[in-house]
Amino acid sequence: MALTITDDCTACDACRPVCPNEAIATGDPSYTIDPSRCTECVGAEDEPQCQLVCPADCIIPDPKHPESRDQLLQKYQALRG
Ligand code: SF4
Ligand code: SF4
Repeated sequence: MALTITDDCTACDACRPVCPNEAIATGDPSYTIDPSRCTECVGAEDEPQCQLVCPADCIIPDPKHPESRDQLLQKYQALRG
């Protein structure tokens, strides 16, 4: 499933540059993740890169977007064209 950013975001900008899918947008106060672009980093990395770098631990799975690993990989491949 796509990840989402909670209200604990401090807009530090650590996550945005590490996303392989350019899924993270700046925001004030909270950054946001485009669920149509987030693949949990499936296809590109072993684990979600944004969660690794977030100092506020405010990036969590979004149950509104349940997806299997295969679906995430298909999304990644579609994004790559
Ligand atoms: Fe981007 Fe990966 Fe974070 Fe999704 S999990 S927003 S693809 S860095
Ligand atoms: Fe917000 Fe975490 Fe991204 Fe920083 S790394 S902008 S605290 S979601």
